[in-house]
Amino acid sequence: MSELIRCAHCGAERPSNEMKPGKIIFRDRHPVSGKAFVNSKTNLYCADKPCHTHDQMAHEG
Ligand SMILES: [Zn+2]
Repeated sequence: MSELIRCAHCGAERPSNEMKPGKIIFRDRHPVSGKAFVNSKTNLYCADKPCHTHDQMAHEG
């Protein structure tokens, strides 16, 4: 039984060979200093759909 991975954008659960990693860049605030900075993280998205692009757009201004 292969493990299913949930897409970080659309929530679909799919086997890992149908997923691909995508880097998201977003504005964040430092928990200690309170200063704003640009942060990034890598999520997994559907390889055959524009989920990564849509999620990045959702994180911009
Ligand atoms: Zn997806």
